[in-house]
Amino acid sequence: METTVKRQFSSKIALVFIASVLLFGSCRKEAEPEYSVPEEVEPYVQAFVNEAKARGLEMKIDNLIVEFAQPDGDFICGMCTSPTNHQKHIIIGIQKFCWKDASPQMREALVFHELGHCYLARFHTTKKFPDGTYASLMNPDDTEVYSICQYPINGATDCDKRPRRQYYIDELFNENTPAPSWAK
Ligand SMILES: [Zn+2]
Repeated sequence: METTVKRQFSSKIALVFIASVLLFGSCRKEAEPEYSVPEEVEPYVQAFVNEAKARGLEMKIDNLIVEFAQPDGDFICGMCTSPTNHQKHIIIGIQKFCWKDASPQMREALVFHELGHCYLARFHTTKKFPDGTYASLMNPDDTEVYSICQYPINGATDCDKRPRRQYYIDELFNENTPAPSWAK
């Protein structure tokens, strides 16, 4: 009889111990997020924090892992793999057109788009202006909305869309941003 009681007691202690290990383990994960961002991506993360700040939004990004990898599909250049977790994780496609051959504006647009998923709880939108251009950086497939000319023909500059950047960043942080003059 006594042995049985003792056994029950020790198994209860064991349960409490396991429970506290689990609890402690998960708390620790929350308290100590990991920050690991490749050097060539870091300036864009900082730019995102600065753009947020310029719009009155204080962001502290200390829970982000960014890595270059092959995403699920060849045509995919970025993914925020767990937007609702505290620890954020972004994959940037290793395909040449995603990063290596992309303009600085395309790289920024890609990183900002993924940060939009991860930190601004934004989803894709296919909203377009009357001329057919996407109205948001959160569009599903175009990172060239405010890019410099990638392959200008005969020195043409009409493909240089850099002046449009301001609008797209405004819209990223505030979906109710009115349409810009160039889109009317
Ligand atoms: Zn996306």
